[in-house]
Amino acid sequence: MSECEVCGKAVSNPRRIDLDGVLLDVCDECMKLGKEIPRERLRTVLKRRIVKEPEFEQKERELRDDFSRMIRDAREERNLKQEEAAQKMGISPSLLRRIEGGFKPDDKTLWKIQRFYNLNLYDK
Ligand SMILES: [Zn+2]
Repeated sequence: MSECEVCGKAVSNPRRIDLDGVLLDVCDECMKLGKEIPRERLRTVLKRRIVKEPEFEQKERELRDDFSRMIRDAREERNLKQEEAAQKMGISPSLLRRIEGGFKPDDKTLWKIQRFYNLNLYDK
């Protein structure tokens, strides 16, 4: 058993999808959110990503300076406690607390937060 990287549900046979360039192993339900990559194409996709890396680095999106405040504000607007919000997003409350305090998490976590609050945490 592994966990769906979007909703946290236990899945026996996760599907790999491409969501805005982030590869995630997800359950059938969350699969609808992104493009599924057939197993046989996965190697090609990964290879292409490696080749494109220098270009990707140049164009890497900048996380906004005030991302932690945006995340906290979005939560407070919804009257959620850190524990409740973290649980709904499938991340740990202590991680959310650190993020709201200015810690920059990995892209997957940021993506979960953006999706949950419908935010754009990146500069163009
Ligand atoms: Zn899921």
